[in-house]
Amino acid sequence: MSEVTCRTAHEWILEKLDSTLAPRQCEALESHLAGCAECRRFEELQLQLDGALASRHSPALTHAFRANLKRRIKAEERRALWDAIPDLFHVGAGLAIIGICAWFLPLPASTVAAAGAVTYLSQALLRLCFEELEDI
Ligand SMILES: [Zn+2]
Repeated sequence: MSEVTCRTAHEWILEKLDSTLAPRQCEALESHLAGCAECRRFEELQLQLDGALASRHSPALTHAFRANLKRRIKAEERRALWDAIPDLFHVGAGLAIIGICAWFLPLPASTVAAAGAVTYLSQALLRLCFEELEDI
């Protein structure tokens, strides 16, 4: 095999750290590293970098973090309920219109008005349902 250059050795060092370096190239790399202080230093720095990244990859969460997160989720759920009140008002208004129509209007007019109110109510319910789906 031809002489391994430092540039090639650096590439192979990275492949070795990723466990993708072929065994034959690994032997040539080890031979190069035995005689090249610069490449040994590069390998050492890469190992330190991998170690630092691995320790930062999955930080431990504190108990306070989890408690704060749960508190914030509950607060957000309460706020979402308050945000839904205008839609609940539409549903209530639709039910009130149906009741008024059924109680006060003569039967044919009451039927037409109630049909309109049912349409309005169903639209309000659908809007309420889809807004909840959008939040997911
Ligand atoms: Zn070298």
